Amino acid sequence: MPRKLVVANWKMHGNLASNQQLLDAYIQKLTPLKNTDVVVCVPYPYLAQAQSILQNTTIAWGAQNLSKDAVGAFTGEVSASMLKDFGASYVIIGHSERATAYCESDENIATKFMQAKSHGLTPILCVGETLIEREAGVMEMVVAKQIDTIMNMYGAAIFANTVVSYEPIWAIGSGLAASAEQAQSMHEFIRGRIACADKGAAASLKILYGGSVNPQNAVQLFAMPDIDGGLIGKCSLSASEFDGICRAAT
Ligand code: PEP
Repeated sequence: MPRKLVVANWKMHGNLASNQQLLDAYIQKLTPLKNTDVVVCVPYPYLAQAQSILQNTTIAWGAQNLSKDAVGAFTGEVSASMLKDFGASYVIIGHSERATAYCESDENIATKFMQAKSHGLTPILCVGETLIEREAGVMEMVVAKQIDTIMNMYGAAIFANTVVSYEPIWAIGSGLAASAEQAQSMHEFIRGRIACADKGAAASLKILYGGSVNPQNAVQLFAMPDIDGGLIGKCSLSASEFDGICRAAT
């Protein structure tokens, strides 16, 4: 059975003292897990702290965004190679909280995906529809456009060994997760869309579900054949809840 992947997205939470406590608890609870890979995506300033605490453990770390450019006069931006300097191995790309607040286009997100991949970072691409789009029945069309922009710009092979996270926008932080059947159906659609262009890339891709995952609903979600794990916001800020979710994956 393929290994599951569970990713913590801390968003803009934490400080040096609380991070130390949370990461210590992660190490204590999560490092004995055998069949699940665990990643924590921290705010940029805490990458060095994550590196110093997590190196030599089985927990990997990453960031929540990166620049679409490699280097240059881009005040406030952080490049892929800077993330690598702090041992990051994953980076979240196109999270809806950023795409909405900072008006990120699908093309910008695609360029960030390529930057991450070409610097040896594993991109975690977030895709998903709004509630209005789901109610209008166009959710697959919306997600297809997000995926196709990357395939059209860089080819389907770029998806090999990467991560896509299906995050319906209506489920993020709302307490209302997608049902296991709704999520499975979209995951199957995403894998199928990429497989049409590159079967090998689709087979090596991990597809996570994100949106109000908790230790209870994780059991059913992670039992679905195309759900390879989860991207976890709120519950990743509690070591015991995050542990419960990781155990559901295991
Ligand atoms: C997220 O923001 O990626 C997320 C899934 O958040 P939450 O788990 O809080 O819904």
